[in-house]
Amino acid sequence: MKSLRTSLLVALLASITLTPLPVRSQTGSVSGVHADALYKNPATPVDQRVADLLARMTLEEKASMVAGSGWMESMPIERLGIPAIKMADGPMGVRSWAGSSAITSGPNDPHKITSTSFPAGVAMAASWDSDLVRREGRAIAQEVKALGRDMILGPTVNINRVPLWGRNFEGYGEDPFLAARLGVAYIKGVQGEGVIPSLKHFAANNEEFERHRIDETVDARTLHEIYLPAFKAAVQEADVWTVMSAYNLVNGTHCAESKALLDDILKKELGFKGFVISDWGSTYSTAATVNAGMDLEMPGGAPMQAWFVLPKTQASGNGAGWLTQEKVLAEIKAGHIAESTLNDNVGRILRVIFVSGLFDHPHTATGIVDTPEQIAVARQGATEGIVLLKNAGALLPLDPTRIHSIAIIGPNAAVARTGGGGSSLVRPAYSISPLDGLKERVGKSIAVSSALGVGMEGEDPTLDTPEARARLLKEAVEVAAHADVAVVVVGRYPKLEGESFDVKTMDLPAGQDELIQAVEKANPHTVVVLNSGDPVTMGKWLDGTPALVELWYGGQEGGHALASILFGDANPSGKLPVSFPKKFEDSPAAANYPGTNLHVNYAEGIYVGYRYFDTKNVEPQFPFGFGLSYTTFAYSGLTVTPGKLSGNQAVEVSVQVRNTGSRAGAEVVQLYVHDGHSKIDRPSHELKGFQRVELKPGESKTVRFKLDRAALSYWSPAEKAWVAEPGVFEIQVGASSRDIRLQAPLQLAVQ
Ligand code: BGC
Repeated sequence: MKSLRTSLLVALLASITLTPLPVRSQTGSVSGVHADALYKNPATPVDQRVADLLARMTLEEKASMVAGSGWMESMPIERLGIPAIKMADGPMGVRSWAGSSAITSGPNDPHKITSTSFPAGVAMAASWDSDLVRREGRAIAQEVKALGRDMILGPTVNINRVPLWGRNFEGYGEDPFLAARLGVAYIKGVQGEGVIPSLKHFAANNEEFERHRIDETVDARTLHEIYLPAFKAAVQEADVWTVMSAYNLVNGTHCAESKALLDDILKKELGFKGFVISDWGSTYSTAATVNAGMDLEMPGGAPMQAWFVLPKTQASGNGAGWLTQEKVLAEIKAGHIAESTLNDNVGRILRVIFVSGLFDHPHTATGIVDTPEQIAVARQGATEGIVLLKNAGALLPLDPTRIHSIAIIGPNAAVARTGGGGSSLVRPAYSISPLDGLKERVGKSIAVSSALGVGMEGEDPTLDTPEARARLLKEAVEVAAHADVAVVVVGRYPKLEGESFDVKTMDLPAGQDELIQAVEKANPHTVVVLNSGDPVTMGKWLDGTPALVELWYGGQEGGHALASILFGDANPSGKLPVSFPKKFEDSPAAANYPGTNLHVNYAEGIYVGYRYFDTKNVEPQFPFGFGLSYTTFAYSGLTVTPGKLSGNQAVEVSVQVRNTGSRAGAEVVQLYVHDGHSKIDRPSHELKGFQRVELKPGESKTVRFKLDRAALSYWSPAEKAWVAEPGVFEIQVGASSRDIRLQAPLQLAVQ
């Protein structure tokens, strides 16, 4: 592939003959930028526009562009008409950009904007609905523009390595194929609107514990098979415009100054043409960072300086202010940074400003957000993401004609926990709690009572005393005992699950296990609803629980979505994008988390999630891909055509799926590949395809997948390349990683 630098040079030479040469004034600034300058003409190919503009910039101007001008803005160059890129967090909606979360989470946030709160990434992942995620990306991008911004800091595609990671809720679960499909979908939705996404966090950002200082040892195969595929797909299939580097160190080097990650892998191996942006406060050097391939340091300017001097900022291990104009110029003068490197950095930023349309069509802030269409996407996401984990005796769906009273209990019943904590939490104009949603659904026909049951741990200390606990529990039991059905909504909230800290324990917060047990004793018709981003332990109560529902964090429409599932207006179709271990110690990385002396060894290698549980025969509480429905599906007629794959062809896998129950519903058909003949060890099977298919009662549809060599390959450390070994593979189709319904052989021919 021709390098960007070569193309820039060619384009530069071409452009010089077409445009008047810029004139340098005595101060080094450039004048004579004609209105018809090549770079200003949208009809000019982007590479030529970039080269033309770069040639008109002074060294000082270029050096000023590799750091932000503010908390969420890149540096504009007014003289040349280069706009600032105006950013906002993401990824589950648009968050105020006024400053650090200390400012934006507080009541005095100067922007006071509201926007649609979409479900957490893990909930969207549980929908396994790429089309819906693409529509979510589009809806968020429309809100970005409406609020006068240009860039959304998302999606998050980091893999769920440990069930205690504070930010698991933001990402798309444990499987690289699923994360890749959904990441690509989100990016296409965003970029299709001319809004700039930022794919984060590159790379292997899998725990919050000491997130600025933790050094991970990750081998090349594990990186390529588990932690890089979502980034690779986003670069190669969606041509993603920006990638955000991670806080952590990988193999001894901070990601922001890792040449191995940024230049060698992301830019050269994967072919990334956009710009790399640092995570906020993740830089620790000037020349090493620029030379590694970091294109834009954030934040910058006065807001960065004011934040950086705070003791808390320093104590957390943030680094900032290294790519200021002054420091970059000094390193260029000292010969530690080549001007051609700076040209590459700035050229990448300019390229995105051109390809996104930002240069030619600045966004007009209409202020119109939270439209019915955007809300509908949020609600559909929340509904499709809900996973029905248990339904003994078909307690669900509830029949409104047979129920007269319902009790809704728990610390997450009357309050809408829309998302986890940190930079992804947006402020919606309204949010529907489970209690609101149920009340609205049943109207006056069913009596709804409620009780707190237990205070959310740490939220109101007066409720955490033994006396308060006993009183609240008693009230809950009474309410439960007098209702036909009890719904207990438990889980976490942003101060127990969020960014910059890991979740302390897989157990539910204090008193919640006891609440569930007591309610179940008082009422045999109890539905437990989990409102969390990570798996939780259930051993104390699951056997006695007739119905269990995972709501995740459902965004502002979570309460409506829950009510529609509980009453069967919608048929649950969500499937777990993460394995639920029985206990933390069962999870693959338990022995290597959070690390010792700021070092963590990814010793489990590629055996993350179901790759571990299914290969090593460890029984999870609920397997990856699992989720019940109010109907049933039968699989038949698996065919692989042709049965032999040669060269770079693809084969078609097809299977019939039939709705054998009496309700319409959707099934997520999953395709796994088993390789029993490889030279090196491989997981027992890996997800390589999925499709969500809607079926009316009795209806049957043929689901088709394409498979090529890539789906059969592993990353060979010896060959430093993806390798598919000729021989017979097993194609498995099923309803979870542990519910394989059909198998068929596929032969890979010798090349
Ligand atoms: C987070 C990023 C976020 C950035 C800007 C960081 O602390 O890790 O995900 O986009 O802040 O708010």
